[in-house]
Amino acid sequence: MYRSNTNGELRISDVNKEVTLSGWVQKSRDKGFMIWVDLRDRYGITQLIFDEARTESSVMELAKSLGREFVIQVKGTVIERESKNSNIPTGDIEVLVKELTILNAAQLPPFTIEDDTDGGEDIRMKYRYLDIRRNPVKNSLLFRHKVAQQVRNYLSNLDFCEVETPYLIKSTPEGARDFVVPSRMNPGQFYALPQSPQTFKQLLMVGGMDRYFQIVKCFRDEDLRADRQPEFTQIDCEMAFIEQEDILNVFEGLTRHLLKEIHNIEIEKFPRMTFDEAMRSYGNDKPDIRFGMKFGELNTVAQHKDFPVFNAAELVVGIAVPGAASYTRKEIDGLIDWVKRPQVGASGMVYVKCEGNGQYKSSVDKFYDQEDLAKWAEVTGAKEGDLILVLSGPANKTRGQLSALRMELGNRMGLRKPDEFAPLWVIDFPLLEWDEESERFHAMHHPFTSPKPEDMHLLDTDPGKVRANAYDLVLNGNEIGGGSIRIHDKEMQALMFKHLGFTPEQAQDQFGFLMNAFQYGAPPHGGLAFGLDRLVAILGGQETIRDFIAFPKNNSGRDVMIDAPATIDNVQLQELSLALAKK
Ligand code: ASP
Repeated sequence: MYRSNTNGELRISDVNKEVTLSGWVQKSRDKGFMIWVDLRDRYGITQLIFDEARTESSVMELAKSLGREFVIQVKGTVIERESKNSNIPTGDIEVLVKELTILNAAQLPPFTIEDDTDGGEDIRMKYRYLDIRRNPVKNSLLFRHKVAQQVRNYLSNLDFCEVETPYLIKSTPEGARDFVVPSRMNPGQFYALPQSPQTFKQLLMVGGMDRYFQIVKCFRDEDLRADRQPEFTQIDCEMAFIEQEDILNVFEGLTRHLLKEIHNIEIEKFPRMTFDEAMRSYGNDKPDIRFGMKFGELNTVAQHKDFPVFNAAELVVGIAVPGAASYTRKEIDGLIDWVKRPQVGASGMVYVKCEGNGQYKSSVDKFYDQEDLAKWAEVTGAKEGDLILVLSGPANKTRGQLSALRMELGNRMGLRKPDEFAPLWVIDFPLLEWDEESERFHAMHHPFTSPKPEDMHLLDTDPGKVRANAYDLVLNGNEIGGGSIRIHDKEMQALMFKHLGFTPEQAQDQFGFLMNAFQYGAPPHGGLAFGLDRLVAILGGQETIRDFIAFPKNNSGRDVMIDAPATIDNVQLQELSLALAKK
């Protein structure tokens, strides 16, 4: 038996017990006649004491040879500590060691195994197994497990059945490139790794499994943006015989359950906002509603004077920054420079200081009088002491820029509090989205999303205006889940592919299996998927998902520990019919 107890377990009530403990040497203090060792495992730290007067000399000798991270086993007696440590649960006791076995010696680790380590990100990733011994990483993994378990419990109690779907499949379009796997047995042919189990979960509905979920890996070969992983985990769900309202209720329930279980926070009904409203009020389809600074559209109160910049603009839009009228010229210039950075791309910014006694001081006083500016204040909701910041230009672009500024100010002003949770549903997404590059419409969600019946008539005349039965769950400015009511009718699905630029042959070739299935009694169905990594990070009060993944890839999509991706040898290439022809 390696251990009778863990290192987080023993208390004052265990005094006089004979115990066996195993673990890693966190540190040791050698006072010559006495040696103290902190023994660590996943559960905590227990102090060991080797005492010349009470421990055999051979054991004393061996104890002197212990280094950091040695794996050891000890047998001894629990005794009360003379100087107690109230910082750890085992701090009232120590174990007086009688026997010591070194199970495995260890090299000095390349960084300290402490909560605040001296190791940088790269070295920690290279030795991730050592990093996992540290409390912050270990606790993140335990936290993730807890969230996943709560999800499983909640959904299982509602009759959801977890079904595994295959990883070696054919492309499922979710808007990214596929990772592909060559088939040895079928030369020249490839599997694709799923971008999501979308088509399979729909087929499960056709199969009658009317409530499905799966905590599942998905793979998307995207140009990596910060904090994206090429493989990530979804809580993937689908239901049959439901309407949008049913889905929103079930998964609002799940989210509420998680917030309650994990943070003891009770949130009543989640607010709902249409995509249109989100874009108009926050310039963003995943607004962080923990703070205000809602957009005020100023066209009608700013395009009646001789200010050519505003007059030429499709949209003039502003926000009121609370208490920022006191900003110095330099601070305001700093903000103007910030929005002019290429990443944001504004060409300039107008400001209005709402000073005392209804007085306004603006950068466009030449064009606008106090009465005009008072109207701007009204539209943006600015109060005395606030600073109005105004951008103008093409509507979508300008909204995006102001949204970036709003989030930046939210961060700088500490308004995005990690312990505050503000979920909301964004609904009524457009069905299609114009893609400048390919000059055609793409599915905004995916091609299986059903249009709203009342918008169907626009499909031929004004496709960009058709709304979908699609929804996102947003938490603190992050999209944590999204889904839709699906098409379950073959003709409708064929029509959708046509609008997405597929020829009937292409549609049949790629998605014939789904459309065929729809002919054999497909029930009305819909669902959604949560991004588990991000959900866990946000619930954990953090924004980097990497901290909650045991073995993440770096920003270039590499696993630096196992050094992947890597080349493979020629024999393997040949077996896969991938070998380059010999010169
Ligand atoms: N498959 C979708 C996604 O990965 C989610 C869904 O529509 O259920 O985003």
